[in-house]
Amino acid sequence: ATPTALLVGTGRGAQMGVLIKGPEVLESTRKVDTIVLDKTGTVTTGKMTLTDVYTAGDVDRAELLRLAGGLEDASEHPIAQAIAAGATAEVGDLPTPESFENIEGKGVQGVIDGHAVLAGRESLLADWSQHLDENLRSAKQAAEAEGKTAIAVGWDGQARGVLVVSDRIKPTSAQAIAQFKELGLTPVLLTGDNQTVAEQVAADVGIEQVYAEVLPKDKVDVVTELQNQGKVVAMVGDGVNDAPALAQADLGLAMGTGTDVAIEAADITLVRGDLRAAADAIRLSRKTLGTIK
Ligand code: ADP
Ligand code: MG
Repeated sequence: ATPTALLVGTGRGAQMGVLIKGPEVLESTRKVDTIVLDKTGTVTTGKMTLTDVYTAGDVDRAELLRLAGGLEDASEHPIAQAIAAGATAEVGDLPTPESFENIEGKGVQGVIDGHAVLAGRESLLADWSQHLDENLRSAKQAAEAEGKTAIAVGWDGQARGVLVVSDRIKPTSAQAIAQFKELGLTPVLLTGDNQTVAEQVAADVGIEQVYAEVLPKDKVDVVTELQNQGKVVAMVGDGVNDAPALAQADLGLAMGTGTDVAIEAADITLVRGDLRAAADAIRLSRKTLGTIK
């Protein structure tokens, strides 16, 4: 294509809410055959709310909310913000942690009100020999079967509760995925969340291929693995932890509603955070490059 045609293409993209970093990006867009989608914040809204609280035995619900809420208040993860907001709404001011550590892709730990508290995946608590009792485990499984995320909470050596947060699938996601398929692209879901939740979300939006429980640092390896299989890969993401994968992909697309780090790593920004704009971008580049040889 002539430089002028490409510039016209990028200009048209801007009108559609698709910001393209440079005209050369359109070339790579044309060859894409696989589109990898981050779950939280990309396929789903990423705006989570605390929906259910389960306590073990004689654990006080307000104390569970104060300790988990206070600890999560120090984290910027969407799950953490939902827990802190839900806890504040119910018990008021939350204590401030004396120490805090974020364990990437797993959860948080810290000392708060004199207790050593963990909140995150069940496997994080298991690393510290804290195990959910039967009631908590079945509450967790029921929540996950509905596509919700269950966060295990423990302190002073024991698992003591489960907090359920739920995110919503964006109303436009299923339509976007149908459009990818019409364009001949294979959609793939990639998430750090657990297998059950990931499969539920994938089924709801029409994705057959799922990579779940992928640690933030390993997301890039999934992209590389697909490329090694001969795929030309587009990746759509929003989070800090998506940036390396966005850079590795043949085409990186960031949600305009996402983090600056993701936007910087990407070739294309979808201004409105609507996944259908990714299909628009691919259609546009094929049109731009197809009409002018
Ligand atoms: P995604 O890939 O869907 O954006 P992440 O990689 O950020 O998800 O997180 C993976 C999983 O780790 C979450 O589903 C959650 O179970 C756990 N997790 C991460 N951060 C936190 C936190 N601050 N509090 C509780 N759990 C967390
Ligand atoms: Mg995300």
